[in-house]
Amino acid sequence: MILILGGTSEARQLAAAMVQRGATVTSSLAGRVASPRLPAGEVRIGGFGGPDALARWLADHQVAAVIDATHPFAERISASAAIACAIASVPRLRLERPGWQAREGDRWLWVDDLDQAAAAIPAASGERVFLTTGRQGLAAFAQDGKSWFLIRCVDQPGPPLPARSEVILDRGPFILAGELQLIDDHRIDVLITKDSGGSFTAAKLDAARERGLPVIVVRRPPRPGGPAVTSVQAALEWAHAGYRLGV
Ligand code: NAP
Repeated sequence: MILILGGTSEARQLAAAMVQRGATVTSSLAGRVASPRLPAGEVRIGGFGGPDALARWLADHQVAAVIDATHPFAERISASAAIACAIASVPRLRLERPGWQAREGDRWLWVDDLDQAAAAIPAASGERVFLTTGRQGLAAFAQDGKSWFLIRCVDQPGPPLPARSEVILDRGPFILAGELQLIDDHRIDVLITKDSGGSFTAAKLDAARERGLPVIVVRRPPRPGGPAVTSVQAALEWAHAGYRLGV
């Protein structure tokens, strides 16, 4: 059985392609989202209980290989998978979509984390912020009593939130016209995003460019070493080479 650590569109595409090729696949989700989009094949939901427990799970379920297709900012599960696979001697592949690249006309300010993103709002001359960094870590912005935040998340975020804020619940894919509408309706003057990469949520960057807005971009955290690919096709080829799955 191949275990896909999921929670991304690439993980779902990979599971679908592998199931179609007759592979036995289990996808694992953290259980953060109330009604997740479920991948094809078997699905398990919830944390494993850390690297040692994950190593036991791999052995108990006779996992032949792990493909870590989690989000670029899901640091803990990737670290846990690296340790667990080493303990259980299970091959591991990282599937990570490329980061976004600035284009002509972009006004991007790179920062290392959400605290730095919050501190950079005045430098970006922003007061009305479109905050798209997700439900976790919003406490970094909670002390900002000056800016107004439009916070977009999949599920309702818990406190602490910035005092001056509005939450909209939505999930990608998003389109340019919708992002421009949000920016205009809410008189947004700065966008904050993680460098998530991929096409599902990239329209906000096009919209910011079109309106000449600065974008505060949070850099990806470091990742464990080991073999890594950037496309679903390359992950399929790795699985084919090692496990004779048709590609
Ligand atoms: P995280 O900080 O790396 O993980 C926290 C804990 O959640 C892990 O230690 C693990 O618990 C459990 N976990 C995370 N992903 C899991 C998975 N795929 N299967 C089973 N357990 C998992 O992760 P996160 O940032 O909270 O993200 C959670 C999930 O949402 C990930 O699967 C990720 O792909 C997806 N996601 C994250 C973001 C983001 O911005 N961080 C954005 C979109 C989607 P145990 O230690 O108990 O095993």
